[in-house]
Amino acid sequence: MDLNGFDPHDGDMFAPYCPRHQSRVLLGYESVVDVEQTPFGPKVMLRCHCGELVSHDAAEPEAATAGAAATTTATSASALPTAC
Ligand SMILES: [Zn+2]
Repeated sequence: MDLNGFDPHDGDMFAPYCPRHQSRVLLGYESVVDVEQTPFGPKVMLRCHCGELVSHDAAEPEAATAGAAATTTATSASALPTAC
């Protein structure tokens, strides 16, 4: 496989976030389908077990989830009747 200059270290695995799994998945180098050179370094595209194409650095959307939860909490709190 032509890794386009990307130099994998022995035994390294990727643990990208897969939107279809809605969790992180553990993928080895056999799952690499493409490597793009970006100004920030090589970006490795992987084929998840479910067929989804994910970037190796795809992160779990924790911030978005936390933000949504906080908004929901705030809305619920403001919706509570105010005791007088
Ligand atoms: Zn998946």
